[in-house]
Amino acid sequence: MKRCLFILILIGMVLNAYLSFAEQPFAIIVHGGAGSYGNDSVVNQKIKDVISFAVEQGYAVLEKGGSAIDAVETAIRILEDSPLFNAGKGSVLNEEGFVEMDASIMDGKTLKAGAVAGVRDFPNPITLARLVMEKTPHLLFAGEGIERLIDKFNLKRVSPKSLITPERLEEFKKQKESQRKGTVGAVAIDKNGNIAAGTSTCGMANKMVGRVGDSPIIGAGTYAKNSTCGVSCTGHGEFFIRQSAAFQVSSLVELGKFPLQKAVEFVLSEIKNMGATGGMIAIDKDCNIAFDYTTMGMPCGFKSSKGDFKVIIFKEELLNK
Ligand code: ASP
Repeated sequence: MKRCLFILILIGMVLNAYLSFAEQPFAIIVHGGAGSYGNDSVVNQKIKDVISFAVEQGYAVLEKGGSAIDAVETAIRILEDSPLFNAGKGSVLNEEGFVEMDASIMDGKTLKAGAVAGVRDFPNPITLARLVMEKTPHLLFAGEGIERLIDKFNLKRVSPKSLITPERLEEFKKQKESQRKGTVGAVAIDKNGNIAAGTSTCGMANKMVGRVGDSPIIGAGTYAKNSTCGVSCTGHGEFFIRQSAAFQVSSLVELGKFPLQKAVEFVLSEIKNMGATGGMIAIDKDCNIAFDYTTMGMPCGFKSSKGDFKVIIFKEELLNK
């Protein structure tokens, strides 16, 4: 009897070890926008702290068995709520001094996606994008339609002014050279191997009213497909649209058999050859994490069940232990 029990326990242990070994690895990567970051260590640390928090919160969702979509939305909402990034609160102002935000989200399992462009009075455009994906038969909303969505789902509007921070107002008043940075994005793969990606931004400072960038354009700023990868972009949107940047990465992985990192680097170099800069984050179906940028820096953080964890602004920081 004792022997039988011992064998049963042993089988249980072996099975458990096998199952945890065979478990699909999961991961999340987030970015805070490619751009010209300086070496003010206090400012940089503040940025890294928020990126780190977004990574940890998104990872916690995955660890509990939550979906990649939930992890992506969770991480992006944190970045939208921080005044340090050009999304949600802290958005840059357009040429007339108000904000018009864009966002998109995509589910790599179903290839469903949702997006909004020109949001003026809602602090978390990524959540609106998700509502479009899950609760409407459509993909992209703009203008008056967004106002109706907000009412339809009984969401709370905020005053457009409450999204403007004193720093952004100061930049606007000084008509500062458009410092293109601070877009946010996230890509995750969950325990079921489902991949999701999302991006949220207020685009370029001093942009013309009504200008829409790549961030709400599926295939340009955001893309996710379970059999290939998820991608979120940041950079000069017009060029990312012309290159179908995020979709191109997925296609290079699928048809060109490019390793993920090479695909990201290739598309960014194509965009650079056209005269524009930016950055990308990505995760593939095998839980490989990739990112790159052609600007001075890009806040970026990732965490995986394989034990990776890093938060950086400059690539050189990857060399530091
Ligand atoms: N891609 C964004 C846009 O063009 C801006 C950025 O990522 O910095 O709207």
